[in-house]
Amino acid sequence: MQYYSTRNKKDKFTFEQVFLNALAADGGLYIPESIPVWSQETIENMKDLSFQELSFEIFKVFTGSTFENEELASIINHSYSTFKIQEVVKSKVVDGISCVELFHGPTLAFKDVAMQVLGNMYQNLLNKSKNKMNLVTATSGDTGAAAIDALKSKPYLNIFVLHPEHKVSETQRRLMTSVADSNVFNIAIQGTFDDCQYLVKEMFNDTEFRNKIQMSGVNSINWARIVAQIVYYFYIYLKQSVFKRMIVSVPTGNFGDVYAGYVAKKMGLPIEKLIIASNHNNLLENCIATGLYKPSTVKPSISPSMDIQVASNFERIVFDICEHNDLRVKQLMQDLKEKKQFQLSDIELSNLQKYFLACSVSEEETKNTIAELHKAFNVILDPHSAIGFYALKKLVSFDNNYSYFCLETAHPCKFPDAIHDAIQMDPPVPNFVKEIFAKKEKFVVLKNDLDSLKKYIILKAS
Ligand SMILES: *Cc1c(COP(=O)(O)O)cnc(C)c1O
Repeated sequence: MQYYSTRNKKDKFTFEQVFLNALAADGGLYIPESIPVWSQETIENMKDLSFQELSFEIFKVFTGSTFENEELASIINHSYSTFKIQEVVKSKVVDGISCVELFHGPTLAFKDVAMQVLGNMYQNLLNKSKNKMNLVTATSGDTGAAAIDALKSKPYLNIFVLHPEHKVSETQRRLMTSVADSNVFNIAIQGTFDDCQYLVKEMFNDTEFRNKIQMSGVNSINWARIVAQIVYYFYIYLKQSVFKRMIVSVPTGNFGDVYAGYVAKKMGLPIEKLIIASNHNNLLENCIATGLYKPSTVKPSISPSMDIQVASNFERIVFDICEHNDLRVKQLMQDLKEKKQFQLSDIELSNLQKYFLACSVSEEETKNTIAELHKAFNVILDPHSAIGFYALKKLVSFDNNYSYFCLETAHPCKFPDAIHDAIQMDPPVPNFVKEIFAKKEKFVVLKNDLDSLKKYIILKAS
């Protein structure tokens, strides 16, 4: 399989290049030249595969000849051995909706599902090339912890994580800053997540800097993360007792997780609709309604991992709804940069509406959902997952011909204040999380300033 950039279809890349570069040199995102379509029969024949085996089949499609089969299998098995449950992902039915628990990895959010695999892929490739690499990533709270856990103590690698100071929960922060390994660098930026993301993008776009430090990225724009996330859409479909078309609600920020669902659909998985569930940062709801993509300033919320106004992966869907017109994508992204917004055409908008519904959920609605589900069913959803649940209930009239899923993207113990506020009770906390509160924290605070950040990274990079 070959890849190209959403902004230039002429140059082709291998999976290895796409994985290690993360972001294309022209600022675009990598996507496969074409996506293979599996027949319903091929899909159903995989129903007895374990999560790991299914991962292998899906990664094989997208990684081409980058890894030998045994290497790939070993990367996958090793990655999921860190999960607290052997099946990696499991579901529970709450009020007719299958809530898919994606948070059984080492840092209790769905991001572990992809990040553990990325960590072992880096290790495999760098062991062969003996090259050193410095990974830089921005986090709204969960990516950072997942990346640090996946990369700590790995040879040939340093990991720099930028998080917005005071804008992640204490548990989220401690999961990152309590890691003592010498290849881990936490940086609290005096700004928002979008500021952090912008700083990382600027460093990527600075070819000299990027080459100087052998920079790569594990943000949700990395194609390998999308691939890992495609797997659970197939897995939950195949674990049904009767195969029904799916409607899936996805708590959304950077548009990576829901985009993975879209790719699964393109591969032939019977997904009827994907619901983009967001908090009061309603950029995507507006865009699906009117075609106007217009980021404003981020409003903090009790679902901080989705406090985002620039949905990085959205460019990939824009490429598809523009019928693969790379020049049109380039133009829209130019508009975004210069005019701080872009407008989709009527055809593009109706293409977008074919696949997606969107719902922005208020703080009040989020808390009420947590409280109601706790009262009626004795389950505690984290605020992000509660947003997904609410959006599904609101947008869809239930019908026996479909099955309904809500992705549960984080364990509630990562957001104790929000949970306590909603149900006047603390969520249960696993022991290994309790332990991080006794550990010393390691991080620096830097201004929202590109030059000081670059200086710091150059100083620490090796
Ligand atoms: C990252 C994250 C999201 C948003 O996922 P995207 O792929 O960025 O859309 C939702 N919920 C939680 C808990 C997260 O950590």
